[in-house]
Amino acid sequence: MTECHGYAAKSADSPLEPFRFERRDVGDEDVRLDIAYCGICHSDVHMARNEWSSTPTTYPLVPGHEIAGRVSQVGKKVRKFKVGDLAGVGCLVDSCRRCPNCRRGLEQFCHAPATFTYNSMGKDGKPTYGGYSSAMVVDEAFALKIAAGLPLERVAPLLCAGITTYSPLKRHGVAKGSRVGVLGLGGLGHMAVKIAVAMGAEVTVLSGSKSKAPDAKRLGAHEFALTSDPAACQRLARRLDLIVDTVSAQHDLDVILNMLDVEGTLALVGASPKPLEFSAFSLIGGRRRLAGSLIGGLPETQEMLDFCAERKVLADVETIGVRDINAAYERLLKGDVRYRFSIDLKTLQP
Ligand code: NAP
Ligand code: ZN
Ligand code: ZN
Repeated sequence: MTECHGYAAKSADSPLEPFRFERRDVGDEDVRLDIAYCGICHSDVHMARNEWSSTPTTYPLVPGHEIAGRVSQVGKKVRKFKVGDLAGVGCLVDSCRRCPNCRRGLEQFCHAPATFTYNSMGKDGKPTYGGYSSAMVVDEAFALKIAAGLPLERVAPLLCAGITTYSPLKRHGVAKGSRVGVLGLGGLGHMAVKIAVAMGAEVTVLSGSKSKAPDAKRLGAHEFALTSDPAACQRLARRLDLIVDTVSAQHDLDVILNMLDVEGTLALVGASPKPLEFSAFSLIGGRRRLAGSLIGGLPETQEMLDFCAERKVLADVETIGVRDINAAYERLLKGDVRYRFSIDLKTLQP
C-alpha cells in the first residue's frame, strides 16, 4: 500500500481537515507521483459541500483534480515516464478504454463510466481520493506529460481549468478573428481568455465584477462588459460567435444568448447546482445553439498542455499552504482570488 496524507472534508458542513489514507501499490502500468501543487477548482467546493444532487458526495472526500508533480516510482511496464519526470493528473484516473467514447479519446464520457479523480470508485473497489494530498498512484495512460522549465504552481490549474476551456474553444472552431465572449472571470474564465487570445480570437469579457475590468485587458481581452449594465449588454447584441459560460451559480441566460450572432453558440461549462432558464425566443430568434462541455479526454488534455507550454499560457495563481484551504474556499466564493488558488503540498506535515 502507498501511505498518503492529505486534507479531507468529512461532511458537507465541516471544514477540511488532515486525513491519512492508503492508495494501492504501484502496479506494473502505474506511476507514483509526488504532488507538488494542486489547484482549487470551484468543483472542489461544490463537491465538498454536496451541492450537486446528480452526483452526491461520499465522505471523506479528498478534493483536487488540478495536480502537478514529479514521478517518484514507475511500474515495470511503464513506457511514457521515468523517475524524475514531471507529470500531471486532471479529473480522470481511469476508464474502460474499449467503449466507443474511450476509443475516440473521450474518456470523460466512458460508458463504464469513467473513474474520476475523487468521489468515484476505482477498479479495486476503493474510493478515489484527489490531489490535496502527498502522492497519487495512477495508470500511466491517465498521467499527462508536463514540459520542463515551467512554474508548476501555474501549470497545475491547466489540468482542469485549462482543458475545460480549451476543449469548447477548439471544438467550436475558434481561430484568428473569431469573436469570443467569456462569461465569468474566475479560474476557468481567465484561462478561457488567455487560450482564446492565443488562438487569435477577439475576446470580450462579460463579468458581474466591475473591479475585474483592468485584469480583463491585462489578460489580453479586447473588451469588457458589465453584465449588470443593460446598455453595455445591448451594445453587444448579435456581436459574438461563441460565448463560453463559466458561471458557477444560477444566472440569466437570455441577456447572454442575445449577444450571439446568427448561428452563434453558447458553450456552457459552469455547473450551477440550480437549474438555468431561458426563453425559447433567445434561441430561435437567431438560430442559436446551446452546447455543453465536460473537461476533455486524455489526448486533448495533452494537446492543451503542449499548446500552453509552447505559448507560455499559464494560470495566474495565488499560492497557499494547506492550512489556508478553508479560508481559500470562503474567498473563492466571494470572488476574492486572482484567479486560482494553487496549494503548495510541501506545506503538508507528514
Ligand atoms: P470561480 O473561479 O469561482 O469562477 C466563477 C465566476 O463566475 C466568478 O469569478 C464570477 O465571475 C462568476 N459568478 C460567480 N457567482 C456568480 C453568480 N451568482 N452570478 C453570476 N456570476 C457569478 O469558479 P471556476 O473554478 O472557474 O468554476 C466555474 C464553474 O465551472 C463551477 O460551477 C465549476 O464547478 C464548473 N466547472 C465545470 C467543468 C466542466 O467540465 N464543465 C470543469 C471545471 C469546473 P465575475 O465576477 O466575472 O462575474
Ligand atoms: Zn475542476
Ligand atoms: Zn469507456
